[in-house]
Amino acid sequence: MENLFDLLVIGGGPAGYLAAERAGHAGMKAAVAEKRALGGVCLNEGCIPSKAFLNSAKMYDHARHSEAYGVTATGVSIDHAKVVARKNKVVKQLVSGVGMKMKQNHVTVLNGVAKITGRSAEGFTVTVEGQTYTAKRLLIASGSVPVVPPIPGVKEGVAAGYVMTNREILDMTEVPKELVVIGGGVIGLEMASYFNSIGSHVTVIEMLDKIAGPTDREISSILLKNYQKKGVDFKLSCKVVGVSEGSVSYEEKGEQKSVKADKVLLSIGRRAFTQDLGLETIGVYTERGAIVTDEQMRTNVAGVYAAGDVNGKIMLAHTAYRESEVAVNNMLGRKDVMRYHAIPSVIYTNPEVGAVGETEESAKAKGMDVEISTVSMKYAGRYVAEEENGDGICKLIIDKKYKRLLGAHLIGSYASEIIYGAALMVETEMTVDSIKELVFPHPTVSEIIREALFEAKI
Ligand code: FAD
Repeated sequence: MENLFDLLVIGGGPAGYLAAERAGHAGMKAAVAEKRALGGVCLNEGCIPSKAFLNSAKMYDHARHSEAYGVTATGVSIDHAKVVARKNKVVKQLVSGVGMKMKQNHVTVLNGVAKITGRSAEGFTVTVEGQTYTAKRLLIASGSVPVVPPIPGVKEGVAAGYVMTNREILDMTEVPKELVVIGGGVIGLEMASYFNSIGSHVTVIEMLDKIAGPTDREISSILLKNYQKKGVDFKLSCKVVGVSEGSVSYEEKGEQKSVKADKVLLSIGRRAFTQDLGLETIGVYTERGAIVTDEQMRTNVAGVYAAGDVNGKIMLAHTAYRESEVAVNNMLGRKDVMRYHAIPSVIYTNPEVGAVGETEESAKAKGMDVEISTVSMKYAGRYVAEEENGDGICKLIIDKKYKRLLGAHLIGSYASEIIYGAALMVETEMTVDSIKELVFPHPTVSEIIREALFEAKI
């Protein structure tokens, strides 16, 4: 039957396209339904576009602040419209690469909104643009959407265009004079970083008393200081109470204040997207809007799996990738389980932040007996050679009893690239002694892991 698949994937983001690719590669007859563009949030309006922006800002910052390194550049400028145009080119290239992968692995791409309609004798039934398809298995990978809070004026601002989410801000070609970022999490900080570099005055309003969400408090405070120095205004422990054209009002210690805003970015978080998928027709269980999955990415309905942001666990693209592989492996009868304790996370600001595993706070909250070893990044020769005024640190969380690395937190250049090595050590439960035997290339900033280990009193 032409419309009968071994696997139908709903959503063509990182979780969905990779699952379809892996399934097709393994010989399953696979289809992926996507209502917008293959690549999902990550490729089209998330990870990749934001990194394209941040790289342009980094080049611009380097060019402008290079005297201390013996380099003088004059007439340096940045053309934001060109940055957006380049971003669009990069996105197009990567999205077409995903399309190629689908072809190579004989995956059928169904363009349109998919809706589960129930079951038939052959499997689950799904409609896409009026056409009905049947699949022996389903993988739901419908991702997430930004949370739009019920703050007075937000809805009107979104409709008028001066309140934006990640989607709109990444396509905006003008440079706002005053940008207010509501929410000091990773997405908010990355956008604050970019627009600060290219000349906007940025104010970040955050409800908590720290930025960067669950990031280690010491690292978060170094990041805060770096951006304060660059001119970003932070309003911590402040609650936004209203938005209107030209200003944002917030409450600070019970007092109402306001700040000027030409544009407002909403970045208070994302929620799993499960609306109108037809989950109820087959009885898929959700909790607070997210699909509940077990460690094999199975839902409560046999044959139905969910991976990526839609299960609301760790909303990162690399988590989505691995979850989708776990799901497909289990469909193929290869037992595989998802482990969440060693998933690295990165903030691509300047300085960068890379983190994995337990933080000092989380380890202490769990009553773990840990040794904390913190060293300045200046212990790494390459860092000193390349950074004039760097204040980065590397902080390791070590289990005292088993002498194992439980967490690593870095702020400074290359942290985004170094962190995968630390994640490997945490994931494979390497002991401090065995890590000490590893040879790191010199001079690299990655040597900081060794330095911090040898400093540990263990
Ligand atoms: P998504 O990427 O959301 O894809 C879901 C897809 O499903 C969408 O394309 C949607 O159109 C489609 N869909 C939904 N419902 C239907 C339906 N009924 N029918 C057909 N199609 C449907 N993560 C990182 O790891 N690193 C980063 O640097 C990073 N930066 C980010 C920056 C920003 C600004 C944002 C917003 C996110 C960032 N993320 C980052 C998070 C990352 O984008 C997500 O974790 C990732 O995209 C999740 O993949 P997914 O496949 O679960 O969902």
